[in-house]
Amino acid sequence: MKLSEIYKSNDKLIFSFEVFPPKNGNTENLFEELAKMNEQKPALVSVTYGAGGSNRNLSLEIVKELKNHLKQPVMPHFTCVCSSKEYIEKYIEEIENLGITNILALRGDEPQDIEVCYRDFKSALDLIEYLKKHSELEFAVAAYPEKHPKAKTFDDDIDVLYKKQNLGAKVAYTQVFFDNECFYKFYDLCRKKSIKIPIIPGIMPITSFNQLKRIVELSGTKINSKVLAYFEKYKDSKEDTIKAGIEFASLQCEKLVDFGAKGMHFYTLNKAQSSVKVIKNIT
Ligand code: FAD
Repeated sequence: MKLSEIYKSNDKLIFSFEVFPPKNGNTENLFEELAKMNEQKPALVSVTYGAGGSNRNLSLEIVKELKNHLKQPVMPHFTCVCSSKEYIEKYIEEIENLGITNILALRGDEPQDIEVCYRDFKSALDLIEYLKKHSELEFAVAAYPEKHPKAKTFDDDIDVLYKKQNLGAKVAYTQVFFDNECFYKFYDLCRKKSIKIPIIPGIMPITSFNQLKRIVELSGTKINSKVLAYFEKYKDSKEDTIKAGIEFASLQCEKLVDFGAKGMHFYTLNKAQSSVKVIKNIT
């Protein structure tokens, strides 16, 4: 099903899961977890892609498994940074030949260890223009409720999202956030600037205190000191942290539903349990 059809529905919440190619290349556990996610009948499962194509083959292997064996609707991510036009052409052709209809179109962060970095596509907008002209794929895009770390101003960032919409993006998935107020403000600002596409909040149920600290450092997302203290309390017990993460994310999602969110995009970290539990709690 195409993105435009998936997000047309107003009857029920629309859930999607994000997974990534495991660093050790072992997909066995991931496929088991994907089978568990499948029981929730997600609208989409998205598969990340290493900027510069670092995990290209593994990402594609997972996309194929999802499509052909698990029969799940799949949306590959694709980044254009440092890739040549020829490379991008071939990849998009390969994706379309697999019968894929949707893609998450991204710029990506420039990899540190790349030998040759092509400058054919400088931003997600370049990739989107290409997709529009040369493919039948529908595309989703990234959005940043707390501003992209490199954007000069919030307005610049929102202008970019507006351009993405006008070039045909069907939906935007946000960067993970833990403070709903950021999302509410961002959403209202987008609507004021005539961004009308669905903006789907990115939710990550916390499973480890160290992981939470790492995410806050890497993405620059705000976290209330009370929330940090709440998770710190459980840091020595994996089981209690997972429970607390489910509770926190469930409450966060309930409030987002009250606000009017159309659905949620779960950063699953390749584990089904927490995201599935959150969905059960809020439906
Ligand atoms: P763009 O839309 O091109 O830029 C994002 C924003 O950054 C713009 O709004 C603009 O305001 C600002 N900006 C960018 N560059 C500059 C600059 N040089 N100067 C000033 N402002 C600038 N990364 C991966 O590698 N693989 C993935 O699979 C992946 N999946 C993601 C999924 C989601 C839902 C999200 C939110 C992010 C994901 N990312 C992924 C991270 C993403 O690639 C980075 O955030 C990247 O830096 C920006 O990509 P973009 O597509 O948003 O870029």
